[in-house]
Order: sequence, then structure tokens, then C-alpha cells
Amino acid sequence: LDLRSEDLILLRELGSGNGGTVSQVKHVTTQTIMAKKIIHIEAKPQVRKQILRELTILHECNSKYIVSFYGAFVTEEDRDIAICMEYMDVGSLDAIYKKTGPIPLPILGKITLAVLEGLNYLYGSHKIIHRDVKPSNILVNSKGQIKICDFGVSGQVINSIADTFPERIQGATYTVRSDVWSVGITLIELAIGRFPFPPDGSKLTVLELLQHIVNEAPPTLPPGEFPDDFDDLTKKCLSKDVSQRPNLQELLKHPYVVEAQKSNVDVEAWTRNVRRKSTAAN
Ligand code: ATP
Ligand code: MG
Repeated sequence: LDLRSEDLILLRELGSGNGGTVSQVKHVTTQTIMAKKIIHIEAKPQVRKQILRELTILHECNSKYIVSFYGAFVTEEDRDIAICMEYMDVGSLDAIYKKTGPIPLPILGKITLAVLEGLNYLYGSHKIIHRDVKPSNILVNSKGQIKICDFGVSGQVINSIADTFPERIQGATYTVRSDVWSVGITLIELAIGRFPFPPDGSKLTVLELLQHIVNEAPPTLPPGEFPDDFDDLTKKCLSKDVSQRPNLQELLKHPYVVEAQKSNVDVEAWTRNVRRKSTAAN
């Protein structure tokens, strides 16, 4: 599919983050609804071409746990890069929990499974480390599918992401186990309905947050409110010592994940609820 800017009609803005802005668009020649992410990168045309080359690997990332990629191009003004991907119509988990409250436990099991399977696919098949696992990068659609997006395939783009892992803050290299730490933080955030740093919920500056992560005990779930298996999984993900932290293969065999796999909870029905509640809130 040869994507050109002039073939895309803007439908609506979906949101924006540190790196860019995302909108819902329609590709007119194929009638495909897509999500288009614009990333502004101060770089020479040469470097932008390099980024586009790095992004082509996304064409090979095919998994039911990964948001599919349609293509990327440099925008008309030649200043930004546009990445076109599968549009996920129920949105991201941060937006969902902010509107509807903590994610129900049976759904959390399916989310855990999808995220771990997605990360395991990226690393196992492509040696890709995600580097930005968080609720806004986990998307849901009305078929009940849960997929991850925005993983680090481009060295250039990666350099613009802030790192918040104990080992990174202390200057060590990034490994797939750093993603496991983020999985732990993300699961607690989804389970309690807020970002778990610091435990009392006060606002920290970026520097204070980094100091807190390095110096204080990792976040924990409120005692007695969650199943032991889930508590155990998040504790393991949040081992500050990287060598104590399980890898993705080990996590996929964790009793909590094995149970989640067997569960026949209706994720599609949950997405209908989410959509009803979020339209009621608007
Ligand atoms: P950051 O820039 O720190 O990664 P972010 O993930 O919130 O933060 P973006 O990746 O720019 O920022 O995404 C902005 C919002 O757009 C997301 O929160 C999500 O709700 C929405 N979004 C992104 N990609 C899609 C998609 N493929 N389908 C539907 N909505 C999307
Ligand atoms: Mg994102």
C-alpha cells in the first residue's frame, strides 16, 4: 500500500502525547479507517529518510497482539513523519480507566496476557524491545482485541523518549527486562485506577519521580484487595534488581497468566460497556 498524504481525509483528532499527535483518518482509495500519528523530529532530511527506512520493519510485525502498520511517509512540508496504523475504536487503556474507573479483574487478566504475548512476539521474532509500555500504548477495539503500539523500532525516535526504569536511571543499558518493569507499573495503574508513584498520590517533578524510583521500595498493590497470583506477578515484575526480575517466557508461565489464558471472560461485552459509559460521560 503506497500511502500518500493527499489520499487521507481527516476525520477527527484522537489525542496527543509527548512525541506527537494522533488523528483518525480515512484512506480514500481503499476506504480504510486508520490512525495517523504525526511525529515532529528536528532532523536533517537525511536523518528523516533513515527513520523511514527503520520504520519499514513495522511491515513485518504481524501478530494479533500488535497494532498493524499501514505505512509511513514524510509530510508535505517535509518537517514531520506520519505513521499510519490500525485504528482501534475503543481507544487506549488510560482513557478507558480515566472514564470508567479501575479495570475489572477478569479483563486485567486478558490485558496481561495480550501485553506479554505482544512483547514476547516483538522480542522473540524481531529482537525489538518495546521501551514505552504504559496504558496509553495499549489499545482496544470493539471486537474485544487488545493490542500494543508505539514500540521503539527507530533509534532516532527512541532517543526522544524519557526513561523511568531503575536500571536506566542508574545508567545501565536497556533490556527486555526493563519492559517487564513497565508491565508491573502498568498493571498496578490499571488495577487501582491511578499512576502508582508515589504511593500517597502526590504530584512529583520528573527529577523527584526518578529519585523516588531509585531510592524507594517499588509500588505495591493495596494489601488484601487483589488475588494472590496477581499480587505475586506484579511483585516479580517490579523487582528492582534486574537479575531477580523474570523474563517474558517465565512470566507467560506464571499461574496468573495461565489462568487468564483459560478464562472465557467476554472482552467484547466489556468494550460495549466501556463505550456506553464513555458516551454517557461526554
Ligand atoms: P506518549 O507520547 O508519551 O507516548 P501517548 O501514548 O498518550 O503518550 P500518543 O501515542 O501520541 O501519546 O497517542 C495519543 C492518543 O491517541 C492515545 O492516548 C490514544 O488514546 C490515541 N491513539 C493512539 N494510537 C491510536 C490508534 N491506533 N487507534 C486509536 N487511538 C489511538
Ligand atoms: Mg502512544
